[in-house]
Amino acid sequence: MSSRSLSLSQTLQDYVSAVGVRPDPLLERLRAETATLEWGRMQISAEQGALMDLLLRLMGARQAIEVGTFTGYSALVTARALGPTGRLVACDINPETTAIARRYWAEAGLADRIDLRLAPALDTLDGLLADGGEGRFDFAFVDADKPAYGAYYERLLRLIRPGGLIAVDNTLWSGKVADPSENEPSTVALRAFNRMLHGDSRVEMALIPIGDGLSLARKR
Ligand code: CA
Repeated sequence: MSSRSLSLSQTLQDYVSAVGVRPDPLLERLRAETATLEWGRMQISAEQGALMDLLLRLMGARQAIEVGTFTGYSALVTARALGPTGRLVACDINPETTAIARRYWAEAGLADRIDLRLAPALDTLDGLLADGGEGRFDFAFVDADKPAYGAYYERLLRLIRPGGLIAVDNTLWSGKVADPSENEPSTVALRAFNRMLHGDSRVEMALIPIGDGLSLARKR
């Protein structure tokens, strides 16, 4: 689902993988280990990781939040790009997949840069807001339960600073968002989220057809 971009042939995808992303043995091992899991297809594509790395460095981002950590690939990419003074708050509820994440973060020397919160993400985000976190973050990445995307987005929009960026994964959902015959709850939620973001005058936005769709929103 998210291991290749929509409508790229396998040949072209292989080409992108070969010359579009720099080799990274640690990330490749994490990809391989994650691929053996039941939900292994949930990890972001390598080229999407490279794009996020570039965006974070362009922004000079130092403080980030992630909603949905899984086995830690995007968190590793993010924390590394934040630099030694950076901090990532990573939200997830699964102790098993995040145990894999912690192993790779430690190996990458990033363990002290990542603050993993094993709790429902809305509770963590509300806690950050209650602790005076409003406007304190540069970047947020959302890759979690789709029906809650709107709720995550509203909190993250308060937590990031003006000029900060929210990146939202899976917004093309294997193309189902554009197929009116598809109406399971995640599809309906993503369709509503995409419409909302398109009309949201609080941000500049673009939906990038990379991986399974990555929506970018910059807070005005
Ligand atoms: Ca995803």
